[in-house]
Amino acid sequence: MSTIVSRSGEAKSSPSLYESSMRLFLETTKLLKLDPRVALELSEPHHEIMFTITVDINNRLIEFTPEEYAQQGKDFEDLLESHFDPKYYKILASGNVSFQPRVFASSDASIRAGVIRLFGRLYHVRGRQPEQLRCYRVQHNNIRGPYKGGIRYHHEVSLDLFKMLAAEMTWKTAISAIPFGGGKGGIRMDPRNYSADEIERISSRFMYKLKPFIGPNRDIPAPDVGTNSVIMGHFFRQYSDGENEYHTLRGVVTGKDARIWGSEGREMATGRGLFYCIEEWLRHRQSPGPDQLIAPDKVSWKDVDFIVQGYGNVGSAFARIAVQRGAKLVAVNDRDGTIHNPGGIDPEDLQEHVSSATNVKHSVEGYSKARSIGLDEFWRLNAFLFVPAALGGIITAEVANKLQVKLVAEGANGPCTIEGEEALRERGIEIIPDIIANSGGVIVSYYEWLQNNRQEHWSEAKVNERLSDTIKSNYNIILDIAANRPRRTSEFNSAQYTTGKTHDMRMAAMVLALRRLEDHYKLEGFSQ
Ligand code: NAD
Repeated sequence: MSTIVSRSGEAKSSPSLYESSMRLFLETTKLLKLDPRVALELSEPHHEIMFTITVDINNRLIEFTPEEYAQQGKDFEDLLESHFDPKYYKILASGNVSFQPRVFASSDASIRAGVIRLFGRLYHVRGRQPEQLRCYRVQHNNIRGPYKGGIRYHHEVSLDLFKMLAAEMTWKTAISAIPFGGGKGGIRMDPRNYSADEIERISSRFMYKLKPFIGPNRDIPAPDVGTNSVIMGHFFRQYSDGENEYHTLRGVVTGKDARIWGSEGREMATGRGLFYCIEEWLRHRQSPGPDQLIAPDKVSWKDVDFIVQGYGNVGSAFARIAVQRGAKLVAVNDRDGTIHNPGGIDPEDLQEHVSSATNVKHSVEGYSKARSIGLDEFWRLNAFLFVPAALGGIITAEVANKLQVKLVAEGANGPCTIEGEEALRERGIEIIPDIIANSGGVIVSYYEWLQNNRQEHWSEAKVNERLSDTIKSNYNIILDIAANRPRRTSEFNSAQYTTGKTHDMRMAAMVLALRRLEDHYKLEGFSQ
Protein backbone atom coordinates (compact mmCIF):
# COMPACT_ATOMS: atom_id res chain seq x y z
CA MET A 1 0.00 0.00 0.00
CA SER A 2 2.71 2.41 0.94
CA THR A 3 6.35 2.71 0.18
CA ILE A 4 9.00 2.92 2.83
CA VAL A 5 11.77 4.53 0.95
CA SER A 6 15.34 3.54 1.62
CA ARG A 7 17.67 5.91 3.39
CA SER A 8 18.98 7.18 0.10
CA GLY A 9 15.62 8.97 -0.33
CA GLU A 10 14.56 10.92 -3.42
CA ALA A 11 16.92 12.14 -6.10
CA LYS A 12 18.22 15.42 -4.77
CA SER A 13 20.55 18.22 -5.61
CA SER A 14 23.33 18.83 -3.15
CA PRO A 15 23.48 20.08 -0.51
CA SER A 16 19.91 19.20 0.34
CA LEU A 17 17.82 21.15 2.83
CA TYR A 18 18.31 18.28 5.22
CA GLU A 19 22.10 18.27 4.86
CA SER A 20 22.25 22.04 5.35
CA SER A 21 20.05 21.87 8.41
CA MET A 22 22.20 19.12 9.92
CA ARG A 23 25.34 21.29 9.89
CA LEU A 24 24.55 22.66 13.33
CA PHE A 25 23.88 19.13 14.60
CA LEU A 26 27.27 17.96 13.32
CA GLU A 27 29.11 20.96 14.80
CA THR A 28 27.43 20.40 18.16
CA THR A 29 28.18 16.66 18.21
CA LYS A 30 31.88 17.58 17.77
CA LEU A 31 31.72 20.25 20.44
CA LEU A 32 30.13 17.87 22.94
CA LYS A 33 32.26 14.90 21.83
CA LEU A 34 28.97 13.07 21.58
CA ASP A 35 29.19 9.30 21.66
CA PRO A 36 29.68 8.36 17.95
CA ARG A 37 26.98 5.70 18.15
CA VAL A 38 24.50 8.27 19.48
CA ALA A 39 25.50 10.77 16.79
CA LEU A 40 24.90 8.14 14.10
CA GLU A 41 21.56 7.10 15.59
CA LEU A 42 20.42 10.72 15.36
CA SER A 43 21.91 11.54 11.98
CA GLU A 44 19.22 9.98 9.75
CA PRO A 45 15.45 9.51 10.13
CA HIS A 46 14.17 6.13 11.31
CA HIS A 47 11.47 5.98 8.59
CA GLU A 48 10.73 7.93 5.43
CA ILE A 49 7.23 7.07 4.31
CA MET A 50 5.90 8.18 0.92
CA PHE A 51 2.66 7.25 -0.76
CA THR A 52 0.07 8.62 -3.12
CA ILE A 53 -3.64 9.05 -2.61
CA THR A 54 -6.27 9.27 -5.31
CA VAL A 55 -9.35 11.32 -4.55
CA ASP A 56 -12.41 12.40 -6.55
CA ILE A 57 -12.38 16.13 -7.07
CA ASN A 58 -15.65 18.07 -7.56
CA ASN A 59 -16.82 19.65 -10.76
CA ARG A 60 -14.81 22.71 -11.68
CA LEU A 61 -15.18 25.86 -13.66
CA ILE A 62 -11.75 26.48 -15.16
CA GLU A 63 -11.23 30.07 -16.24
CA PHE A 64 -10.14 30.81 -19.81
CA THR A 65 -6.47 31.55 -20.19
CA PRO A 66 -5.52 34.96 -21.71
CA GLU A 67 -4.78 33.11 -25.00
CA GLU A 68 -8.23 31.47 -24.95
CA TYR A 69 -9.88 34.84 -24.31
CA ALA A 70 -7.96 36.26 -27.31
CA GLN A 71 -8.69 33.34 -29.67
CA GLN A 72 -12.19 32.20 -28.62
CA GLY A 73 -13.63 35.06 -26.55
CA LYS A 74 -15.55 36.45 -29.55
CA ASP A 75 -17.40 33.11 -30.08
CA PHE A 76 -19.00 33.50 -26.64
CA GLU A 77 -19.73 37.22 -26.69
CA ASP A 78 -23.49 36.57 -26.73
CA LEU A 79 -23.37 33.82 -24.04
CA LEU A 80 -25.74 34.87 -21.26
CA GLU A 81 -24.44 35.47 -17.73
CA SER A 82 -25.27 32.54 -15.38
CA HIS A 83 -26.23 32.87 -11.73
CA PHE A 84 -25.21 30.18 -9.19
CA ASP A 85 -26.72 29.62 -5.77
CA PRO A 86 -23.82 30.48 -3.35
CA LYS A 87 -24.68 27.40 -1.24
CA TYR A 88 -23.36 25.11 -3.96
CA TYR A 89 -20.09 26.65 -5.14
CA LYS A 90 -16.80 28.02 -3.84
CA ILE A 91 -14.41 30.40 -5.58
CA LEU A 92 -10.89 29.05 -5.15
CA ALA A 93 -7.66 31.02 -4.71
CA SER A 94 -6.64 30.07 -8.27
CA GLY A 95 -9.72 31.89 -9.59
CA ASN A 96 -11.37 28.59 -10.61
CA VAL A 97 -14.67 27.52 -9.05
CA SER A 98 -15.55 24.24 -7.33
CA PHE A 99 -19.26 23.40 -7.52
CA GLN A 100 -21.82 20.72 -6.69
CA PRO A 101 -23.90 19.35 -9.62
CA ARG A 102 -27.11 20.39 -7.84
CA VAL A 103 -26.13 24.00 -8.58
CA PHE A 104 -27.83 23.51 -11.97
CA ALA A 105 -31.14 22.48 -10.38
CA SER A 106 -31.32 25.64 -8.31
CA SER A 107 -29.65 28.18 -10.56
CA ASP A 108 -30.08 30.05 -13.77
CA ALA A 109 -27.32 28.66 -16.01
CA SER A 110 -26.52 28.90 -19.72
CA ILE A 111 -23.84 26.60 -21.11
CA ARG A 112 -22.63 26.44 -24.69
CA ALA A 113 -19.97 24.03 -25.97
CA GLY A 114 -18.97 23.34 -22.35
CA VAL A 115 -18.44 27.04 -21.62
CA ILE A 116 -20.25 29.18 -19.06
CA ARG A 117 -20.15 32.89 -18.21
CA LEU A 118 -20.12 33.72 -14.50
CA PHE A 119 -19.16 37.01 -12.77
CA GLY A 120 -18.53 38.34 -16.30
CA ARG A 121 -15.76 35.77 -16.94
CA LEU A 122 -15.65 32.70 -19.17
CA TYR A 123 -15.04 29.22 -17.78
CA HIS A 124 -14.77 25.69 -19.13
CA VAL A 125 -17.10 23.33 -17.24
CA ARG A 126 -15.17 20.26 -16.09
CA GLY A 127 -16.86 17.20 -14.57
CA ARG A 128 -15.89 15.42 -11.36
CA GLN A 129 -12.57 13.64 -11.84
CA PRO A 130 -9.94 11.77 -9.86
CA GLU A 131 -6.72 13.47 -8.82
CA GLN A 132 -3.55 11.94 -7.41
CA LEU A 133 -1.62 13.63 -4.61
CA ARG A 134 1.79 12.86 -3.13
CA CYS A 135 1.92 12.28 0.62
CA TYR A 136 4.75 12.04 3.15
CA ARG A 137 5.47 11.16 6.77
CA VAL A 138 9.01 11.21 8.10
CA GLN A 139 9.62 9.65 11.52
CA HIS A 140 12.99 10.95 12.61
CA ASN A 141 13.60 9.63 16.11
CA ASN A 142 11.57 8.17 18.99
CA ILE A 143 14.11 7.50 21.75
CA ARG A 144 12.34 9.97 24.08
CA GLY A 145 8.77 8.97 23.13
CA PRO A 146 6.33 8.65 20.19
CA TYR A 147 7.19 10.53 16.99
CA LYS A 148 5.49 13.92 17.11
CA GLY A 149 5.03 16.63 14.51
CA GLY A 150 2.69 18.51 12.24
CA ILE A 151 1.01 17.75 8.94
CA ARG A 152 1.58 20.39 6.26
CA TYR A 153 -0.61 20.90 3.17
CA HIS A 154 1.43 23.00 0.75
CA HIS A 155 2.31 22.90 -2.92
CA GLU A 156 6.07 23.14 -2.31
CA VAL A 157 6.75 20.26 0.08
CA SER A 158 9.23 17.43 -0.52
CA LEU A 159 10.75 14.46 1.26
CA ASP A 160 13.89 16.54 1.81
CA LEU A 161 11.88 19.31 3.52
CA PHE A 162 10.02 16.86 5.76
CA LYS A 163 13.28 15.14 6.77
CA MET A 164 14.59 18.52 7.91
CA LEU A 165 11.39 19.44 9.74
CA ALA A 166 11.12 15.99 11.38
CA ALA A 167 14.68 16.24 12.73
CA GLU A 168 13.88 19.70 14.08
CA MET A 169 10.96 18.18 15.96
CA THR A 170 13.36 15.69 17.60
CA TRP A 171 15.45 18.61 18.88
CA LYS A 172 12.39 20.67 19.81
CA THR A 173 10.66 17.97 21.86
CA ALA A 174 13.94 17.32 23.70
CA ILE A 175 14.42 21.02 24.46
CA SER A 176 10.81 21.25 25.61
CA ALA A 177 11.40 18.36 28.04
CA ILE A 178 8.32 16.50 26.81
CA PRO A 179 8.26 12.72 26.24
CA PHE A 180 8.08 12.74 22.45
CA GLY A 181 10.37 12.29 19.46
CA GLY A 182 10.29 13.98 16.07
CA GLY A 183 8.17 13.53 12.94
CA LYS A 184 6.64 15.63 10.18
CA GLY A 185 4.61 15.04 7.06
CA GLY A 186 1.93 16.26 4.75
CA ILE A 187 0.56 16.45 1.25
CA ARG A 188 1.88 18.28 -1.78
CA MET A 189 -1.14 20.46 -2.64
CA ASP A 190 -2.39 24.01 -2.30
CA PRO A 191 -5.35 23.64 0.08
CA ARG A 192 -6.76 26.99 -1.01
CA ASN A 193 -7.60 25.39 -4.35
CA TYR A 194 -9.99 22.84 -2.87
CA SER A 195 -13.44 23.16 -1.32
CA ALA A 196 -14.15 22.10 2.27
CA ASP A 197 -15.72 18.77 1.25
CA GLU A 198 -12.73 18.01 -0.99
CA ILE A 199 -10.31 18.78 1.85
CA GLU A 200 -12.31 16.41 4.06
CA ARG A 201 -12.10 13.60 1.46
CA ILE A 202 -8.37 14.23 0.89
CA SER A 203 -7.66 14.27 4.66
CA SER A 204 -9.66 11.10 5.27
CA ARG A 205 -7.97 9.24 2.44
CA PHE A 206 -4.56 10.43 3.66
CA MET A 207 -5.32 9.12 7.16
CA TYR A 208 -6.67 5.82 5.75
CA LYS A 209 -3.25 5.19 4.23
CA LEU A 210 -1.23 6.64 7.11
CA LYS A 211 -3.06 4.68 9.82
CA PRO A 212 -0.73 1.62 9.89
CA PHE A 213 2.23 3.86 10.71
CA ILE A 214 0.83 6.02 13.51
CA GLY A 215 -0.99 5.74 16.84
CA PRO A 216 -1.40 7.53 20.18
CA ASN A 217 1.74 5.80 21.50
CA ARG A 218 3.56 5.58 18.18
CA ASP A 219 3.34 8.74 16.08
CA ILE A 220 1.07 11.71 16.78
CA PRO A 221 0.32 14.27 14.04
CA ALA A 222 -0.81 17.86 14.65
CA PRO A 223 -1.62 20.97 12.56
CA ASP A 224 1.02 22.87 10.59
CA VAL A 225 0.93 25.17 7.56
CA GLY A 226 -2.32 24.68 5.62
CA THR A 227 -3.99 22.42 8.21
CA ASN A 228 -6.12 23.22 11.26
CA SER A 229 -8.37 21.82 14.00
CA VAL A 230 -11.11 20.93 11.50
CA ILE A 231 -8.70 18.67 9.61
CA MET A 232 -7.47 17.16 12.89
CA GLY A 233 -11.13 16.25 13.58
CA HIS A 234 -11.35 14.46 10.21
CA PHE A 235 -8.08 12.66 10.96
CA PHE A 236 -9.38 11.45 14.31
CA ARG A 237 -12.67 10.22 12.87
CA GLN A 238 -10.95 8.33 10.03
CA TYR A 239 -8.36 6.82 12.38
CA SER A 240 -10.83 5.71 15.08
CA ASP A 241 -13.93 4.83 13.03
CA GLY A 242 -14.95 1.22 13.62
CA GLU A 243 -12.59 0.72 16.57
CA ASN A 244 -14.41 -0.62 19.64
CA GLU A 245 -12.42 1.41 22.13
CA TYR A 246 -12.10 4.49 19.99
CA HIS A 247 -12.20 6.80 23.03
CA THR A 248 -8.78 5.44 24.06
CA LEU A 249 -7.41 6.64 20.73
CA ARG A 250 -8.13 10.36 21.06
CA GLY A 251 -4.47 11.13 21.64
CA VAL A 252 -3.59 9.93 18.11
CA VAL A 253 -3.78 13.51 16.93
CA THR A 254 -3.43 16.82 18.74
CA GLY A 255 -4.61 20.29 17.79
CA LYS A 256 -8.25 19.11 17.82
CA ASP A 257 -11.08 21.51 18.58
CA ALA A 258 -11.50 21.86 22.36
CA ARG A 259 -15.12 20.64 22.02
CA ILE A 260 -13.90 17.23 20.78
CA TRP A 261 -11.20 16.76 23.43
CA GLY A 262 -8.69 19.15 22.06
CA SER A 263 -6.95 21.29 24.66
CA GLU A 264 -8.03 24.73 25.69
CA GLY A 265 -5.33 27.15 24.59
CA ARG A 266 -3.89 24.92 21.80
CA GLU A 267 -5.04 27.22 18.98
CA MET A 268 -3.08 30.15 20.45
CA ALA A 269 -0.25 28.07 21.98
CA THR A 270 2.50 28.61 19.41
CA GLY A 271 1.90 32.37 19.31
CA ARG A 272 1.64 32.45 23.11
CA GLY A 273 4.90 30.51 23.54
CA LEU A 274 6.58 32.96 21.16
CA PHE A 275 5.22 35.80 23.27
CA TYR A 276 6.65 34.22 26.47
CA CYS A 277 10.11 33.86 24.86
CA ILE A 278 10.17 37.50 23.77
CA GLU A 279 8.91 38.48 27.21
CA GLU A 280 11.90 36.64 28.74
CA TRP A 281 14.23 38.36 26.27
CA LEU A 282 12.83 41.78 27.30
CA ARG A 283 12.82 40.81 30.99
CA HIS A 284 16.54 40.09 30.91
CA ARG A 285 17.23 43.43 29.26
CA GLN A 286 14.99 45.40 31.61
CA SER A 287 16.31 43.75 34.81
CA PRO A 288 19.42 44.64 36.87
CA GLY A 289 20.91 41.16 36.29
CA PRO A 290 20.11 37.49 35.57
CA ASP A 291 19.71 36.77 39.28
CA GLN A 292 17.52 39.84 39.91
CA LEU A 293 14.88 39.51 37.22
CA ILE A 294 11.84 41.77 37.37
CA ALA A 295 8.39 40.10 37.50
CA PRO A 296 7.01 39.16 34.03
CA ASP A 297 4.05 41.54 34.45
CA LYS A 298 6.50 44.41 34.98
CA VAL A 299 8.05 43.88 31.54
CA SER A 300 7.33 46.88 29.34
CA TRP A 301 6.14 46.22 25.77
CA LYS A 302 5.47 49.87 24.96
CA ASP A 303 8.53 50.34 22.73
CA VAL A 304 7.98 47.08 20.87
CA ASP A 305 6.69 47.91 17.43
CA PHE A 306 6.78 44.85 15.21
CA ILE A 307 6.37 43.50 11.70
CA VAL A 308 5.10 39.98 10.94
CA GLN A 309 5.37 37.71 7.94
CA GLY A 310 2.43 35.25 7.79
CA TYR A 311 -0.93 35.97 9.34
CA GLY A 312 -2.07 32.39 9.92
CA ASN A 313 -2.22 30.50 13.19
CA VAL A 314 1.16 31.57 14.58
CA GLY A 315 1.45 35.15 13.27
CA SER A 316 -2.07 36.22 14.18
CA ALA A 317 -2.06 34.61 17.65
CA PHE A 318 1.24 36.27 18.54
CA ALA A 319 0.06 39.65 17.21
CA ARG A 320 -3.14 39.52 19.27
CA ILE A 321 -1.37 38.63 22.52
CA ALA A 322 1.49 41.13 22.05
CA VAL A 323 -0.82 44.04 21.16
CA GLN A 324 -2.97 43.28 24.24
CA ARG A 325 0.21 43.71 26.32
CA GLY A 326 1.06 47.09 24.75
CA ALA A 327 3.14 46.27 21.66
CA LYS A 328 2.30 47.83 18.28
CA LEU A 329 1.78 45.87 15.05
CA VAL A 330 2.88 48.10 12.16
CA ALA A 331 3.13 45.83 9.10
CA VAL A 332 2.17 42.37 7.86
CA ASN A 333 3.29 40.46 4.79
CA ASP A 334 1.67 37.25 3.60
CA ARG A 335 1.66 35.17 0.46
CA ASP A 336 -0.57 37.60 -1.41
CA GLY A 337 0.16 41.07 -0.11
CA THR A 338 1.80 43.44 2.37
CA ILE A 339 0.16 46.13 4.51
CA HIS A 340 1.61 48.93 6.63
CA ASN A 341 0.22 51.41 9.13
CA PRO A 342 2.80 53.24 11.29
CA GLY A 343 -0.03 54.27 13.65
CA GLY A 344 -0.72 50.59 14.46
CA ILE A 345 -2.91 47.79 13.08
CA ASP A 346 -5.69 46.24 15.21
CA PRO A 347 -4.92 42.49 15.04
CA GLU A 348 -8.48 41.41 15.87
CA ASP A 349 -9.92 43.60 13.13
CA LEU A 350 -7.29 42.32 10.69
CA GLN A 351 -8.17 38.74 11.67
CA GLU A 352 -11.81 39.40 10.76
CA HIS A 353 -10.71 40.67 7.35
CA VAL A 354 -8.44 37.64 6.76
CA SER A 355 -11.03 35.03 7.75
CA SER A 356 -14.00 36.66 6.03
CA ALA A 357 -15.76 34.29 3.60
CA THR A 358 -15.40 36.72 0.70
CA ASN A 359 -11.59 36.91 1.15
CA VAL A 360 -10.94 33.76 -0.88
CA LYS A 361 -7.15 33.94 -0.45
CA HIS A 362 -7.50 34.64 3.28
CA SER A 363 -4.92 37.35 2.81
CA VAL A 364 -4.17 40.64 4.55
CA GLU A 365 -4.30 42.17 1.08
CA GLY A 366 -7.16 44.64 0.67
CA TYR A 367 -7.33 45.55 4.38
CA SER A 368 -8.75 49.05 4.29
CA LYS A 369 -7.15 50.47 7.45
CA ALA A 370 -3.55 50.10 6.26
CA ARG A 371 -1.60 51.06 3.15
CA SER A 372 -0.53 48.39 0.67
CA ILE A 373 3.29 48.36 0.23
CA GLY A 374 5.85 46.32 -1.69
CA LEU A 375 7.92 43.53 -0.17
CA ASP A 376 11.17 45.52 -0.44
CA GLU A 377 9.65 48.37 1.59
CA PHE A 378 8.42 45.83 4.16
CA TRP A 379 11.94 44.44 4.72
CA ARG A 380 13.35 47.95 5.19
CA LEU A 381 10.78 49.15 7.73
CA ASN A 382 12.13 50.53 10.99
CA ALA A 383 10.77 48.41 13.84
CA PHE A 384 11.98 46.80 17.04
CA LEU A 385 10.98 43.24 16.21
CA PHE A 386 10.45 41.03 13.17
CA VAL A 387 8.42 37.83 13.56
CA PRO A 388 8.70 35.48 10.59
CA ALA A 389 5.62 33.23 10.85
CA ALA A 390 5.27 31.80 7.35
CA LEU A 391 7.69 29.46 5.58
CA GLY A 392 11.36 28.52 5.93
CA GLY A 393 14.35 30.04 4.12
CA ILE A 394 12.99 33.58 3.67
CA ILE A 395 15.74 35.46 5.57
CA THR A 396 18.50 35.21 3.01
CA ALA A 397 21.65 37.38 3.26
CA GLU A 398 19.94 39.90 0.97
CA VAL A 399 16.87 40.16 3.21
CA ALA A 400 19.00 40.19 6.39
CA ASN A 401 20.94 43.16 5.04
CA LYS A 402 17.72 45.10 4.48
CA LEU A 403 16.14 44.44 7.88
CA GLN A 404 16.09 47.46 10.25
CA VAL A 405 15.05 45.63 13.44
CA LYS A 406 16.83 44.77 16.69
CA LEU A 407 15.36 41.31 17.23
CA VAL A 408 14.13 38.44 15.04
CA ALA A 409 11.92 35.93 16.89
CA GLU A 410 11.43 32.86 14.73
CA GLY A 411 7.77 31.85 14.74
CA ALA A 412 8.25 29.89 11.52
CA ASN A 413 10.43 26.81 11.28
CA GLY A 414 13.84 27.53 9.73
CA PRO A 415 13.16 31.07 8.44
CA CYS A 416 16.91 31.96 8.26
CA THR A 417 19.25 30.53 5.66
CA ILE A 418 22.82 29.96 6.89
CA GLU A 419 24.00 33.08 5.03
CA GLY A 420 21.00 35.06 6.30
CA GLU A 421 21.80 34.16 9.87
CA GLU A 422 25.45 35.14 9.43
CA ALA A 423 24.40 38.52 8.01
CA LEU A 424 22.00 39.12 10.93
CA ARG A 425 24.76 38.30 13.40
CA GLU A 426 27.26 40.60 11.66
CA ARG A 427 24.71 43.41 11.86
CA GLY A 428 24.12 42.79 15.59
CA ILE A 429 20.48 41.71 15.11
CA GLU A 430 19.64 39.14 17.77
CA ILE A 431 17.71 35.95 17.07
CA ILE A 432 15.42 33.88 19.29
CA PRO A 433 15.71 30.56 17.44
CA ASP A 434 12.65 28.61 16.21
CA ILE A 435 13.53 25.55 18.21
CA ILE A 436 12.54 27.32 21.45
CA ALA A 437 10.55 30.28 20.05
CA ASN A 438 7.81 28.19 18.41
CA SER A 439 7.85 25.24 20.83
CA GLY A 440 4.61 26.37 22.53
CA GLY A 441 2.49 24.43 20.03
CA VAL A 442 4.10 21.07 20.70
CA ILE A 443 4.20 21.68 24.46
CA VAL A 444 0.43 22.24 24.58
CA SER A 445 0.00 19.28 22.21
CA TYR A 446 1.62 17.24 24.95
CA TYR A 447 -0.91 18.63 27.45
CA GLU A 448 -3.69 17.67 25.05
CA TRP A 449 -2.30 14.14 24.78
CA LEU A 450 -2.05 13.91 28.57
CA GLN A 451 -5.64 15.12 28.98
CA ASN A 452 -6.81 12.58 26.37
CA ASN A 453 -5.00 9.70 28.08
CA ARG A 454 -6.36 10.70 31.49
CA GLN A 455 -9.84 11.61 30.16
CA GLU A 456 -9.41 15.09 31.67
CA HIS A 457 -10.17 18.59 30.48
CA TRP A 458 -8.01 21.41 31.85
CA SER A 459 -8.91 25.09 32.02
CA GLU A 460 -7.17 27.55 29.68
CA ALA A 461 -5.60 29.26 32.69
CA LYS A 462 -4.00 25.97 33.80
CA VAL A 463 -2.72 25.25 30.27
CA ASN A 464 -1.23 28.74 29.90
CA GLU A 465 0.38 28.64 33.33
CA ARG A 466 2.06 25.28 32.65
CA LEU A 467 3.15 26.45 29.21
CA SER A 468 4.62 29.62 30.69
CA ASP A 469 6.58 27.70 33.37
CA THR A 470 7.89 25.10 30.92
CA ILE A 471 8.92 27.37 28.06
CA LYS A 472 10.48 29.98 30.35
CA SER A 473 12.57 27.50 32.31
CA ASN A 474 13.80 25.91 29.05
CA TYR A 475 14.49 29.37 27.62
CA ASN A 476 16.55 30.26 30.70
CA ILE A 477 18.52 27.01 30.56
CA ILE A 478 19.38 27.80 26.92
CA LEU A 479 20.33 31.34 27.89
CA ASP A 480 22.63 30.00 30.62
CA ILE A 481 24.24 27.52 28.22
CA ALA A 482 24.77 30.41 25.76
CA ALA A 483 26.36 32.62 28.47
CA ASN A 484 28.23 29.68 30.08
CA ARG A 485 26.51 30.47 33.38
CA PRO A 486 25.91 27.24 35.32
CA ARG A 487 23.05 27.79 37.80
CA ARG A 488 20.69 25.82 39.94
CA THR A 489 17.54 27.79 40.81
CA SER A 490 14.17 26.73 42.24
CA GLU A 491 12.83 26.53 38.64
CA PHE A 492 15.68 24.93 36.70
CA ASN A 493 19.17 23.52 36.70
CA SER A 494 21.43 24.62 33.86
CA ALA A 495 24.65 23.44 35.52
CA GLN A 496 24.39 19.97 33.96
CA TYR A 497 24.33 21.43 30.42
CA THR A 498 26.85 24.32 30.28
CA THR A 499 29.97 23.49 28.25
CA GLY A 500 32.68 25.78 29.63
CA LYS A 501 32.33 28.03 26.56
CA THR A 502 29.86 30.64 25.37
CA HIS A 503 27.61 29.96 22.34
CA ASP A 504 24.94 31.63 20.29
CA MET A 505 21.36 30.79 21.28
CA ARG A 506 20.83 28.34 18.42
CA MET A 507 23.87 26.25 19.30
CA ALA A 508 23.03 26.48 23.00
CA ALA A 509 19.60 25.06 22.19
CA MET A 510 21.18 22.22 20.23
CA VAL A 511 23.51 21.48 23.18
CA LEU A 512 20.46 21.09 25.42
CA ALA A 513 18.65 18.87 22.89
CA LEU A 514 21.63 16.58 22.30
CA ARG A 515 22.46 16.22 25.99
CA ARG A 516 18.86 15.22 26.79
CA LEU A 517 18.78 12.75 23.88
CA GLU A 518 22.19 11.33 24.74
CA ASP A 519 21.06 10.65 28.31
CA HIS A 520 18.45 8.23 26.99
CA TYR A 521 20.90 6.32 24.81
CA LYS A 522 23.53 6.23 27.55
CA LEU A 523 21.25 5.24 30.42
CA GLU A 524 19.07 2.81 28.45
CA GLY A 525 21.92 1.40 26.32
CA PHE A 526 21.44 -0.35 22.97
CA SER A 527 19.66 -3.65 22.43
CA GLN A 528 21.30 -5.89 19.83
P1 NAD B 1 -0.82 28.87 8.48
O1 NAD B 1 -1.09 28.03 7.29
O2 NAD B 1 -1.88 29.06 9.49
O3 NAD B 1 -0.35 30.35 7.96
C1 NAD B 1 0.71 30.50 7.07
C2 NAD B 1 0.83 31.98 6.71
O4 NAD B 1 2.01 32.13 5.92
C3 NAD B 1 -0.31 32.53 5.86
O5 NAD B 1 -0.63 33.84 6.29
C4 NAD B 1 0.28 32.59 4.45
O6 NAD B 1 -0.30 33.60 3.62
C5 NAD B 1 1.72 32.91 4.77
N1 NAD B 1 2.62 32.54 3.68
C6 NAD B 1 2.67 31.37 2.99
N2 NAD B 1 3.60 31.45 2.02
C7 NAD B 1 4.15 32.68 2.11
C8 NAD B 1 5.15 33.36 1.38
N3 NAD B 1 5.78 32.78 0.37
N4 NAD B 1 5.46 34.64 1.74
C9 NAD B 1 4.82 35.24 2.76
N5 NAD B 1 3.86 34.64 3.50
C10 NAD B 1 3.53 33.38 3.16
O7 NAD B 1 0.51 28.29 9.13
P2 NAD B 1 0.98 28.34 10.67
O8 NAD B 1 0.43 27.15 11.36
O9 NAD B 1 0.76 29.69 11.22
O10 NAD B 1 2.55 28.07 10.52
C11 NAD B 1 3.46 29.12 10.19
C12 NAD B 1 4.89 28.68 10.51
O11 NAD B 1 4.97 28.34 11.89
C13 NAD B 1 5.37 27.45 9.76
O12 NAD B 1 6.76 27.57 9.51
C14 NAD B 1 5.13 26.31 10.74
O13 NAD B 1 5.96 25.19 10.51
C15 NAD B 1 5.48 27.03 12.03
N6 NAD B 1 4.90 26.40 13.23
C16 NAD B 1 3.54 26.27 13.36
C17 NAD B 1 3.04 25.70 14.52
C18 NAD B 1 1.55 25.58 14.77
O14 NAD B 1 1.17 25.19 15.89
N7 NAD B 1 0.70 25.93 13.84
C19 NAD B 1 3.92 25.23 15.52
C20 NAD B 1 5.29 25.40 15.35
C21 NAD B 1 5.76 25.99 14.19
